[in-house]
Amino acid sequence: MKDTAPPKSFLPYGRQQIDAEDEQAVLEVLRGDFLTTGPTVDTYEKAFAERVGAKHAVACSSGTAGLHMAAIALGLDFGDVVVVPSVTFLATANAVRYVNADVLFADVDPETGLMSAEHVARAIAGLSEGTVKAIFPVHLTGHTVDIAGLRKVFPHLAMVEDACHALGGEYDVGQGMVPVGSCPLGGITMFSTHPVKTIATGEGGVLTTNSDVLANRLGWARNHGMVREPERFQNQAMGFEAGNPAPWYYEMHLPGYNYRLSDVNAALGLSQLKKLDAFVAKRRALRERYAERVAALGPHVKMQRVAGGCNPAWHLAVTLIDFDALGTTRTEVMNALRERGVGTQVHYIPLHRQPYYARRYGPLNLPGADAYYARCLSLPLFPAMAESDVDRVVDELASVLKL
Ligand SMILES: *Cc1c(COP(=O)(O)O)cnc(C)c1O
Repeated sequence: MKDTAPPKSFLPYGRQQIDAEDEQAVLEVLRGDFLTTGPTVDTYEKAFAERVGAKHAVACSSGTAGLHMAAIALGLDFGDVVVVPSVTFLATANAVRYVNADVLFADVDPETGLMSAEHVARAIAGLSEGTVKAIFPVHLTGHTVDIAGLRKVFPHLAMVEDACHALGGEYDVGQGMVPVGSCPLGGITMFSTHPVKTIATGEGGVLTTNSDVLANRLGWARNHGMVREPERFQNQAMGFEAGNPAPWYYEMHLPGYNYRLSDVNAALGLSQLKKLDAFVAKRRALRERYAERVAALGPHVKMQRVAGGCNPAWHLAVTLIDFDALGTTRTEVMNALRERGVGTQVHYIPLHRQPYYARRYGPLNLPGADAYYARCLSLPLFPAMAESDVDRVVDELASVLKL
C-alpha cells in the first residue's frame, strides 16, 4: 500500500453552487417563448423585492451596470462629488465616473474594512457646501456600514448601498434588525449576482428601492431611456390618434442603455433565491469555524473584526495577517497555499492607489485603507465547503506561516 495522500481538490476563494433544480429552471425558460427580458424577470424581481423587504426590485445585466443606473437615477452629473470608501471593488467608484461626477475617497477602519461617518466627515472637510451629492457605502465582506450613523451626520446626501457582499444579511438602523436591501433610510441598494457572490445568475445585478420615482428612472436607464406609458408622453400629437394611444409609439426622454437581464439568467436567479437562506446559514457556520480555528494561531493572524449592529451574511472570510512580523510576504504565502490546493485572494487594492485615480486625485493619505490592505487575505468560503475543508485551510495556513 502506498502511503501518499489522495489528491486534494483545489479550494477556490469562492464559487457558485448550482443544482439540478437550477438546471431545470433554466431549461424551462430555454424551451419557452422569452429569452430576453420577459415574464421570468418580472417574477424574479417580485420575489427578490419580497425577500429583502423593498417596494421595488429592478434586475439588470451586472452589478456594475446597476451602479451606473443608480448614478443616473440620482441625476449625478458633472461637478457633483460622491463619497466612496477606498477599499472596495473598482466598479463602485467607476460608476461615479461614468456620469462624469467625481469620486471622493474616504478611509476605512483598519480592522473591519468599513467606512464610518467620521471617515466621510474627514474626506469632506474643507469642501464647499453642496458639492457632495451622494455617499456609496460598501457593506464589505458581508457585515454592514453604520448607515444610520451616516444618515444622522449627512441627512441630505443621497445614498446607494453597495451590498454585493451582503445579500441575506440584516442590520439594525434603529428599528430592530431589517434585511439589507430594504432601504430603511431611503435611496437605492445594489446587489451583484456574479457567480462568486451569494446567489448566481452568470452575470447580473439587482437594485432595490422604496421610491417609485427612483424605480421608474432605473427602468429608463436599463432600457434605452424608452417611455411606453401614454400618460408620460410629451408629444401628444405623435403619441395619440383620435384620442387613442398609438400602439407602436414610444418616446425617449433621456439616453439610456441596454442593461437588461435576460429571462434565462432570471430563471437561474429565481431558483437560486430559494436557496439563499441555506447558503447564508452555511456561510455563517463556515466563518464561525474559521474564527474558532484562527483564534489559535497567535497574535499575528486574526479574523477581520466584525462590526456591531448587524447579522452579517458572509461573502468573504478575511484574515488579517502581519506578514512582516512572521518574516514572510503575502506573495510567498499565497503561492505556497496555491501549491497546497488552497486559493486565496486580496479584497481589495485600495482604489486611491490605482494609477487612474492616483493620477486624477493625487496622492491621498488614507492610513486605515492601506493598513487593511497590507494584512488582508480572503480564505476559501462557499456553501459546498465542509467544516473539514476549513480545518484543512487553517492547517495549511499555519504550516505555511510556520506557526
Ligand atoms: C462584484 C462587485 C461589484 C460589481 O458587480 P458585477 O456584477 O461583477 O458587475 C461591485 N461592487 C462590489 C463590492 C462587488 O463585490
